[in-house]
Amino acid sequence: MTQPKHIGVFGGAFDPPHRGHHALAATAIAQLQLDALHVIPTGHAWHKSRTLSDAQHRLAMARLAFADLSQVVVDGREIARPGPTYTVDTLQELQQEHPAAQLYLLIGEDQARALPSWSRWEQLPALAIICVAARADSTGAKGQFDALKATLPGLTVLNMPPVATSATDIRHRAATGQSIGPLVFETVARYI
Ligand code: ATP
Repeated sequence: MTQPKHIGVFGGAFDPPHRGHHALAATAIAQLQLDALHVIPTGHAWHKSRTLSDAQHRLAMARLAFADLSQVVVDGREIARPGPTYTVDTLQELQQEHPAAQLYLLIGEDQARALPSWSRWEQLPALAIICVAARADSTGAKGQFDALKATLPGLTVLNMPPVATSATDIRHRAATGQSIGPLVFETVARYI
């Protein structure tokens, strides 16, 4: 019998993709032994109040940022989908495409805490194992993970040292003429 595939799903604005995203992806590939990791830039991000950079630029930057991880597939399906896009729909699509696969939904801790505001979020644990990475700005990560575990069955913690990088910080630095060098990969910095 062939083993079910292990497929990771990592969505985000990726505006721009940075070293924190890459660390999360690399950790998940190793820890979960992923055969493939779909990096999925959001289309119309209903939960972000600001206007995102052009989707084609975010796709192109994601291809550059994750280029060294052979398991990563930069997946434009949410960008191609008209209207608001929801993770639950993406997971259902992937489940239909790979019926024998185990899906893993990868999210940072901030998004994990916001999960109860996601569309049909109660359906997520049935579709994928939810895997959470701590963020460097988190306060009392252990306690928060424990609280999350109580509401999300099967929640898995990604074992990565927190990376103190956010796209907000990078956009602020770029807008005020500060260096973004240490926070993004050189290929992405050049693209920006
Ligand atoms: P912004 O600052 O614009 O909100 P962001 O840096 O949080 O952006 P997103 O593209 O919104 O980046 O994040 C995509 C996913 O990656 C989310 O699940 C987020 O929690 C996670 N993530 C982003 N940065 C980190 C980081 N430094 N460590 C761990 N997870 C992260």
